[in-house]
Amino acid sequence: MIDSKALVIFSGGQDSTTCLGWAKNRYREVVAISFYYGQKHQIELEQAKKIASALSVPLELVDIHFYQQMVYSALTGDPMAMNAPHRDNAALPASFVPNRNALFILLAHSYAQQVKAHTMVAGLCQTDYSGYPDCREPFAKSLILALNQGSDQQIELLTPLMYLTKAETFALAEQEGVLPLVLAESHTCYQGSSTPNPWGRGCGLCPACLLRAKGYQEYLSTLERSTHG
Ligand SMILES: [Zn+2]
Repeated sequence: MIDSKALVIFSGGQDSTTCLGWAKNRYREVVAISFYYGQKHQIELEQAKKIASALSVPLELVDIHFYQQMVYSALTGDPMAMNAPHRDNAALPASFVPNRNALFILLAHSYAQQVKAHTMVAGLCQTDYSGYPDCREPFAKSLILALNQGSDQQIELLTPLMYLTKAETFALAEQEGVLPLVLAESHTCYQGSSTPNPWGRGCGLCPACLLRAKGYQEYLSTLERSTHG
């Protein structure tokens, strides 16, 4: 157990729920921060509260919905555009929110100073989300370096899922003891559907649900292979 405090950037989704379990098993004290930025899938935040409370983690919920005024994303705009390219950058998916992760990390870095956390944990992952440039490691590393330099801090940013596939993230959740919470409570669906499925809650049709369902299938077949051979 590491004798310090960790702040988890927590959305209530599969990845950050896994990170919350990971941090709980490693740090003496864990706190979490969630952001409301006008996402259609607000249910994510209701689930975030439930999950944080189930893991006895204090959760700070921050309203930054003004951000919708500045950027376009299908996550805050037209959900029917979800499977199309981004309106303002055709190379990116419609669900991309420009600078969202930069904003989350910036705000979490400010909050970390207030609560005296020297470690931040984020569920950024560049394996499956290659469509989101702000999930990649060089971005995360350079941003935390800039923030530390700009505020004379030494806060580290850990990204335990960075090179895991979705199937490996399911396996990590199992290892950290949070797989039942991931399946029953975590929420990633872009449409805000809370329909229960074997792989968790969601519509089963949006890109986030498709990725999650596919990852769960892969996770199950890996389990089967290791049981039978
Ligand atoms: Zn969905």
